[in-house]
Amino acid sequence: MIYIRRIPLPAPLADELAMLTGVLAAQASVKARDLWGRARLPRRGIRDVLNRMAPGHQRCMYCGDSEGTSVDHWEPISRNRLRTFDWLNHLLACSYCNSSQKGSRFPVDASGNPLLIDPSAEDPFDHLALSLSLGEYRPRTDKGTSTISVLGLNRAVLVLGRQQARTVAAQALRAWYAAYRVGDGLEQQRHIATVRMQPLADVHQAMLRYALAPGAEHVFAGETDLLAILRNPDLRVLL
Ligand SMILES: [Zn+2]
Repeated sequence: MIYIRRIPLPAPLADELAMLTGVLAAQASVKARDLWGRARLPRRGIRDVLNRMAPGHQRCMYCGDSEGTSVDHWEPISRNRLRTFDWLNHLLACSYCNSSQKGSRFPVDASGNPLLIDPSAEDPFDHLALSLSLGEYRPRTDKGTSTISVLGLNRAVLVLGRQQARTVAAQALRAWYAAYRVGDGLEQQRHIATVRMQPLADVHQAMLRYALAPGAEHVFAGETDLLAILRNPDLRVLL
């Protein structure tokens, strides 16, 4: 899970969402899920913008692995119908994260504060640490613990995928550096695209962070060449 920079909606779409929220606010008898289901054009507009925000090839904003196939309501409609058409409540999710994992679960603490990371509102790395060698998340906070559970972030397919993604990223970064040293721009672009567009972008983002963090020499033990590449300012601006 990585931070997702939210971009503004086109003004006509934002106006339409405000109008639909107004309908829900004014008419308690209107079922929010039905209205959402009927709002085909606004849904498509939301989806288009989410696709542009998503990592890689329109990947799920929760797991980062699978194709994002639907607009998820971070705070479920069943909990807060007035956020059905709230742009700040919309994320792109894969069917597994949306239906099989999250569903309508929305844990809160004793004070009512959400215990689920919103990757468009906060940096997931504040709550989650990724073990690059194991491919597993470990919680830094209660919100991290709860998020790992609700979204199944340590399910086997993701753990194995992250191990693979780390290998691919290391290979591509070393290939990038070889092209960088001889000034081959096209080859550099090709390898950067490999890193940027592969699933599980959380892996290369964690590598970039850990390279500058205390203990980096331990995390990248035996890979001092890779550590130097990850610290290269010319690389870091590209990722
Ligand atoms: Zn997912």
